[in-house]
Amino acid sequence: MEQWKLDAFNHAVKCQPFECCGILAKNDNKLEYWECKNIAKDNPEYSFVIDPLDWADCEDSVDQIVGIVHSHPEGEFKFSDNDIASCNYLDVPFYLVEPSTQSIIHIEPQKI
Ligand SMILES: [Zn+2]
Repeated sequence: MEQWKLDAFNHAVKCQPFECCGILAKNDNKLEYWECKNIAKDNPEYSFVIDPLDWADCEDSVDQIVGIVHSHPEGEFKFSDNDIASCNYLDVPFYLVEPSTQSIIHIEPQKI
C-alpha cells in the first residue's frame, strides 16, 4: 500500500473518537499525507476544520495540494452533504478514510 494511505489510516486511528483531517500533497512527484489539527469547536466527532496554520505550512512546503483527507469515526463511511458542499466550494478533491477496513473513497469537485 502507498505510504500516504498508511499515514492517513494511522492518523485516523490516533484521532479517534474525533475526525482526523489532513492534506494530500504532491512533492517531488510523490504523494504525501500531511497531518493537520482538527480545530472544530463543536462536535469534532462529526466534523472537521483544518487548522489554517497547518494548511499554510503545507502549502509552503509542497509542490501542490491535491486533496483533503478526513475520517468518519462515528458516522457512516460516505460523504455527508456538508463534505460534498465543501469539496465543491474549495475546489479540491476530498478523500474519506476508514482505518478499520483500510478503505478510501474520494470525490471530485463538480464544476457548475
Ligand atoms: Zn465528513
